[in-house]
Amino acid sequence: MKTLLLLIYCLLMLQVNAQISEVYIPPKMKKIYGGPTRSYNGKPGKEYWQNRADYDISVELNTEEKELIGFETIEFYNNSPDTLRMLFIKLFQDLYRKGTMIDFPIGPADLHDGTIINSVKINGDEIDLSNSANRRTTNLIITNLPENIAPNSVTEIEIDWKFKIPNTAQVRMGVYRNNAYFLAYFFPRIAVYDDIHGWDRSTYSGKVEFYNDFGNYNVEITVPQGFVVRATGENTNAEEMLQPKIFERYREAQESDDVINIITPKDLESLNITAKNKKNTWKFYAVNVPDFSFCATEDYLWDGVSVIVNKNEARRVFTDVLYYEGAKFFDQAAQISKETIEYMSYEMPGVPFPYPHMTTFCNGSRGGGMESPMMANNGVYSSFEGFYTLFHHENGHTYFPFYTGINETLYSWMDESWATYLPVKLIEQKVENHNRFDYLWRRYIKPYAGSFFDIPLMIPSNNTSGLPLIAKMYGRGYLGLFALESALGIDKFKECTIEFISRWKGKHPTPYDFFYTYNDVAGEDLAWIWNPWYFEIGHADLALEKKENENILVKNLGVYPVPFSLKIIFEDNSEEIINESIRIWKDGNTEFEIKHGTDKKIKRAELLDEFYPDIVEENNVINF
Ligand SMILES: [Zn+2]
Repeated sequence: MKTLLLLIYCLLMLQVNAQISEVYIPPKMKKIYGGPTRSYNGKPGKEYWQNRADYDISVELNTEEKELIGFETIEFYNNSPDTLRMLFIKLFQDLYRKGTMIDFPIGPADLHDGTIINSVKINGDEIDLSNSANRRTTNLIITNLPENIAPNSVTEIEIDWKFKIPNTAQVRMGVYRNNAYFLAYFFPRIAVYDDIHGWDRSTYSGKVEFYNDFGNYNVEITVPQGFVVRATGENTNAEEMLQPKIFERYREAQESDDVINIITPKDLESLNITAKNKKNTWKFYAVNVPDFSFCATEDYLWDGVSVIVNKNEARRVFTDVLYYEGAKFFDQAAQISKETIEYMSYEMPGVPFPYPHMTTFCNGSRGGGMESPMMANNGVYSSFEGFYTLFHHENGHTYFPFYTGINETLYSWMDESWATYLPVKLIEQKVENHNRFDYLWRRYIKPYAGSFFDIPLMIPSNNTSGLPLIAKMYGRGYLGLFALESALGIDKFKECTIEFISRWKGKHPTPYDFFYTYNDVAGEDLAWIWNPWYFEIGHADLALEKKENENILVKNLGVYPVPFSLKIIFEDNSEEIINESIRIWKDGNTEFEIKHGTDKKIKRAELLDEFYPDIVEENNVINF
């Protein structure tokens, strides 16, 4: 009997182990994946939960004082099985509070006393913020709750606040060009409490980005007459806010395949754009998004166009751009934005753009951009290639981290790698001789490859800093996706990606949900990609060796499996290029022999340094 039981037990063990990938998982994470909220097949577990908060916010933009004054009511849904004994509220604008520890210096002009909190009420009870039990960093941590927050309960939180808008050191938001506003991370919000870490206690110090729960946003934004406001969500009172002629163009652009100039230089001269009240209150409503931002501009041009993103439903996405006259390439931006949305909806990832609009605000700074749901805050570029890529990158963030709710604070590669990967093939169609690897890895990876600064992706982003952080999230993360694409082939890679988005939209996937979903859909354990590319420290080094009969041996002396391109030059100076997928190194192979298949004599063979910097260059060439 004992033997039989043991046998059954062994069989069970085998079955369980068969499901578990060889990818490294630390014991604390293993405990979660053995539980009810996550699973080894990459699907959300049967008892997966996440909290949510719906926000009702009224803000007034004081353009004289450059201040934002707000009042908000939050409905916080504790969907967790836990009783919460404290409440974490994120105060991102305390980045500018004197004494806050941040990642880079901010000049004294923008430092202030932090977000002024006039009052916090929880279920109607005023919280005493002078009580020393409550702490404040870039988080407000309330420990003297009137009552514990029970599982499956709704808590109402009211906060009355204001803060000074940064005017010279704009960290992802602020006043630009003196009177153009992009406001993001501006309202106090409930931190994430999740099944992995409990409260997200991380503090915002400027460099590393965000982790937010989903919710509905009902936001009223009051601005002086003449300011046009665009924001996350649908503008529900545009007809009241805009002069009839402007509104008519705005409405037309939402149905138009061609770009419509909604506000022209002539309109700006006429000063007859918005409703003639001293102040106008613009209303927006957004459903199930992880964040909210808005822009307000007084002397900006406005172009818009729309695109069908789902042929079955003929659903249109409106995409629009607000920019100052003369902003380089911006007169082409609405069309570019449309092309990127169309490409992502049908080609890669091949998921219809999930939001009703995508608006870009031009901040006039040199380069770079910042994403929010339905909104991007972009700089200007001197090259068309850079400009186009940036647009695609910021629009691409719609899928990651927003539609799928990535924890960027810990795993910034989970969204930056995608936002960097998505534009690659479209830009190759648009710009001749664009090299998909060159522009990133020469700049970001080459200086670090082969050193300890080339750090594994799985090291939490908020525990890394400086250029190695940038190198890993944009560079190595991006190459990790190419490694996967090479291993799976483009069709399977796409199928895995669509399934990952479908499983985790509106949820919070960890890297393991990503790894396990790809394993599940691909039908193989891809640990041979995950472990070296995402967990290990190492380098790439392929070497060539001459064998008999002019056969060529390619040896992998490095840690990373990499695909390769080998150029063979024959005696008659003709050339042949051999491309091999990363798959040849699966099963731990370290050697791959290329048989010489023609009568022609080989003069020389060389590895093309295309995919990843090969650390030892001397062994990349052989002469016969
Ligand atoms: Zn990005």
